[in-house]
Amino acid sequence: MSTLLELFKTMEYGPAPESPSAVNAWLEEHNRKFGLFINNEWVTPKGAKYFASHNPSNDELLAETVQAGQKEVDAAVAAARAAFESWSRTPGVVRARYLYAIARNIQKHHRLLAVLESMDNGKPIRESRDIDVPLLARHFYYYAGWAQLMETELRDYQSVGVVGQIIPWNFPLLMLGWKIAPAIAMGNTVVLKPASYTRLSALLFAEIVAEAGLPPGVVNIMTGSSKAGSMLVEHPDVDKIAFTGSTDVGRILRRQTAGSGKKLSLELGGKSPFVVFEDADLDGAIEGVVDAIWFNQGQVCCAGSRLIVQENVAAKFIQKLKNRMDHMRVGDPLDKSIDMGAIVDQSQWDTIDGWVKTGVSEGAECYQPNIKMPEHGLFYKPTLLTGLDPAAATVQEEIFGPVLVSLTFRTPAEAVELANNTRYGLAASVWSDNINLALEAASNIKAGSVWVNCTNQFDGASGFGGYRESGFGREGGKEGLFEYLRPIWMERPRPDFKTPAEGTKSTLSKVEGWGEHVPARPAMPTTERANGSDLRPRVDRTPKMYIGGKQVRPDGAYTLSVLSAKGKLVGQVGDGNRKDIRDAVEAAHAAHLSKPGWAMRHGFNRSQILYFIAENLDARNAEFVKRIVEMTGRTQKSAQAEVDAAVERLFSYAAWADKYGGTVQETTLRGITVAVNEPIGVVGIACPDEYPLLGFVSLMAPAIARGNTVVMIPSQKHPLSATDFYQVLDTSDVPGGVVNIVTGDREHLVKTLVQHEDVDSIWYFGTAEGSYYVEYESAANMKRTWVGHGLPRNWMDREQGEGHEFLHEATQVKNIWVPTGE
Ligand code: NAP
Repeated sequence: MSTLLELFKTMEYGPAPESPSAVNAWLEEHNRKFGLFINNEWVTPKGAKYFASHNPSNDELLAETVQAGQKEVDAAVAAARAAFESWSRTPGVVRARYLYAIARNIQKHHRLLAVLESMDNGKPIRESRDIDVPLLARHFYYYAGWAQLMETELRDYQSVGVVGQIIPWNFPLLMLGWKIAPAIAMGNTVVLKPASYTRLSALLFAEIVAEAGLPPGVVNIMTGSSKAGSMLVEHPDVDKIAFTGSTDVGRILRRQTAGSGKKLSLELGGKSPFVVFEDADLDGAIEGVVDAIWFNQGQVCCAGSRLIVQENVAAKFIQKLKNRMDHMRVGDPLDKSIDMGAIVDQSQWDTIDGWVKTGVSEGAECYQPNIKMPEHGLFYKPTLLTGLDPAAATVQEEIFGPVLVSLTFRTPAEAVELANNTRYGLAASVWSDNINLALEAASNIKAGSVWVNCTNQFDGASGFGGYRESGFGREGGKEGLFEYLRPIWMERPRPDFKTPAEGTKSTLSKVEGWGEHVPARPAMPTTERANGSDLRPRVDRTPKMYIGGKQVRPDGAYTLSVLSAKGKLVGQVGDGNRKDIRDAVEAAHAAHLSKPGWAMRHGFNRSQILYFIAENLDARNAEFVKRIVEMTGRTQKSAQAEVDAAVERLFSYAAWADKYGGTVQETTLRGITVAVNEPIGVVGIACPDEYPLLGFVSLMAPAIARGNTVVMIPSQKHPLSATDFYQVLDTSDVPGGVVNIVTGDREHLVKTLVQHEDVDSIWYFGTAEGSYYVEYESAANMKRTWVGHGLPRNWMDREQGEGHEFLHEATQVKNIWVPTGE
């Protein structure tokens, strides 16, 4: 007779299939052919072309959907525009009711949605049923709440307008929910383009929207290829683009929307680290790895695809992992007891396989378990690549499939270094039973979500999004609302500037003012001096640059003349060049990272320093007033008001230095989820010409208050208030390198700043052409940008010149998830 243990070991899982019949009936009702969902109606364009959707687990045809062209894109945008007029004015409490109705309908049709999602995408029904669809409903409930509260809690903001939303195929329903729920809650209307491989659940969702009675045109679903996506991005009547997808396409969209005044949020790729310290619960961490990399067949933007294990437990951990892999079940997505379903499409399968072969050619040892695989369909074995160099392409690039690479480390510092050795920064998972060690690692890893002793946690109440080349903007949580809002005083920027046709740098150099920089020549004496009233040579007081806390001579030894409003020479400043910018960035970096770097100082310390700056500026009040009058020709009264406002603004940000740290998020996790407003890093700031002192202070102060270090390019026309500011900084205990100032030709200097790989964000308040250039060039490393499009901003006005918008731009949100309990 067999023992219980033997029986347990030999016990086979029987199949537990979910029935596809309800989905098939729904597809048949539509004759397996779908039009576009515009104005709550199915629209079938004359002579439409169709795209076929197949079930990747058995290649069966599911349905055909329309390939939208320009006419259809125009119609969908027009419907959204027409609906925007009334939807944006519908009271938030009424909009909330519609969102609740959608949430309820999602729950009502839960099973149909889940089965369709698994049939179209190939993901296990266990995941679509227990994760994707519940989270979809959760997002509508969560944002219904914000619609309800908008008028009281977000009274400084208004809707953005018509939003074009483009989503990928890995979580078709969830991505749709992340985008549509906050957008319509805040009074925007949308045109959403699903990914071509997975269009069907968005079309079923369209029916749910109609069933909820949402007014026509608020949500429009437009199926189509990447070309239709591109038309949506280009459309002049679209006010914002929200994109989730690959970093390569994100880069295209950044360039395409540059200079247009459209808002943009990008949720891009990742190569997230999964860090296991020696004292972690190794068995728990093994289950974590399974959820991190084999969830959704590894086709997850935040998949824990880089395993980083402490060296002394690595052999044991890898052996345990291989044992676990030997028990994984790959098969029919509708079978409730499988771990992994099918890969979405043959081309994706080929890409994954190509990467595994590359890994082997890079020297990896490849482990794939000897498990039973389905005979047909697009299935791929869970795969582990060990023995790779940290610089190997397989370790650096996103594979987007069930392939885990593994590395080892010796010290916690090395673990963090390896974790951050990537151009991405979407998520990370950290495993240790030492809470101090785990939280220290969590705060040092550069990623938008960090899961401590858990992985792949999501909830409507917590934002999700990337650092670095994983994009910018957040989806989820209160922070996700700002992607769909604009300050109340601000209209959609419509810069009076025609962007050059998409092309190469040669097109860019044609943008006025962005060609080659010709250094300045000696300034002619003013008439007064030429007339010989004072013929003694002047002592040269040309201010130098301010880099690393010291005054340094400009590298190129050229100078720029500063003229008064009447053309009189009032001084000269250094004409900075590339080398000066590079030195300034290096100094800013050192100040950011050195221990304890500026970012690591506590808020109280930063606020004290800002108070000192305010006091010291005030002590020199009269001097600064005189300088502003001299440079700008404005009245004494107006200059006095500017200096007083600058002092006041410094006091405001001294106040904010310890009051914008973050929040505890009310997620569904049993434990703690904290949103930390982290600094972005090194911020390059090009200041406006209006209000040379106040513009400078209004931008510098929020950036440094929140722990960033800055490279400032002061007003080109009136730079002397900024160079006078050196002394204020010197006497205010500002550590060297926190504020660096490079004077010169603004556009020329910004060019180097925006192209610099070590600059994390650029704020540019110059011309419309310059704004275009900055946004376009920022795509190289996807740095964040904040530009003024050459439009006026009243810096004297508190609403426009300080506050939440500035703090938002000075920070990026990291959500740290810590479960509690045994
Ligand atoms: P993708 O190729 O970038 O496509 C994403 C979407 O963009 C699809 O709807 C696609 O349409 C469309 N598209 C492609 N080229 C376009 C263009 N030039 N203009 C406008 N639209 C265009 O990405 P994918 O392969 O579907 O998805 C995988 C990627 O998404 C991975 O890199 C993953 O990390 C990322 N992702 C990120 C997140 C996040 O939250 N950060 C979440 C999920 C996925 P077609 O399908 O018709 O080509």
